Amino acid sequence: MKITFLGTGTSHGIPMIGCSCNVCTSSDLKNKRRRCSLYVVVGGKHLIIDTPPDFRDQVLSFGVERVDAVFLTHPHADHIYGFDDVRRFSDLQKNHIPVYGSARTIKQMRKKFDYVDRKSHSFGGVPRVCFTDQTEPVRIGEAIVTPLPVSHGADMVYGFLIEGEGARVGYIPDCNGIPAETLRYLENMDLMILDGLRLQEHPTHFSIGESVEMLARIGAKHSCLTHLTHNSEHHALQTQLGEAVTVPWDGMEIQL
Ligand SMILES: [Zn+2]
Ligand SMILES: [Zn+2]
Ligand SMILES: [Zn+2]
Repeated sequence: MKITFLGTGTSHGIPMIGCSCNVCTSSDLKNKRRRCSLYVVVGGKHLIIDTPPDFRDQVLSFGVERVDAVFLTHPHADHIYGFDDVRRFSDLQKNHIPVYGSARTIKQMRKKFDYVDRKSHSFGGVPRVCFTDQTEPVRIGEAIVTPLPVSHGADMVYGFLIEGEGARVGYIPDCNGIPAETLRYLENMDLMILDGLRLQEHPTHFSIGESVEMLARIGAKHSCLTHLTHNSEHHALQTQLGEAVTVPWDGMEIQL
């Protein structure tokens, strides 16, 4: 299984518009963070989790070859507003691409992208997709993708467990609480990627301290933070965290 971080930044992205702090003005590419998205190649299938506003740039920058299925964590703007560019893949692949999310997420997608379901457009003009409410594990080729309900402020949103080729990967980009029923799925993990917004506490996201504590509890072989703000300089944060938790960067790949 190959994991590529397409984006590791919070909703503003880094650099943040109108900010001249040392991280936003850094020339180090590890301090440039697009909005959160993950690209997983498993058993010959290509999966995308979330289609943020940067999706087109992410696909071109990090070589997304095809898209066999899209999984959506929740309908916040920073996770869905690049969705229209999925149309290039449905056009190239000449098929409908399945798109999975909670009933609430799919309802919002049908509303925000109402033109997608219209029949009048010619092929290629709109994404050709099959919106599907997901509550159970879904099989894509040899891989199994299980939704992981987590709290994100007052909302329940999804993370996903991806199993395939003997590896188990958890991805929860937006979250400030993991219920016991969800934690039970996160055993014997090879890789766990978890929201760790910033050092200060936040009402809808784990702080870095809370995230590191939760990652230690989950005890995956490899732990990563994501959804980072401009308050975290890449190298300074990595030095602070030591070897237990990796601070990823956009384009970073992990082969499992
Ligand atoms: Zn987000
Ligand atoms: Zn800044
Ligand atoms: Zn969110």
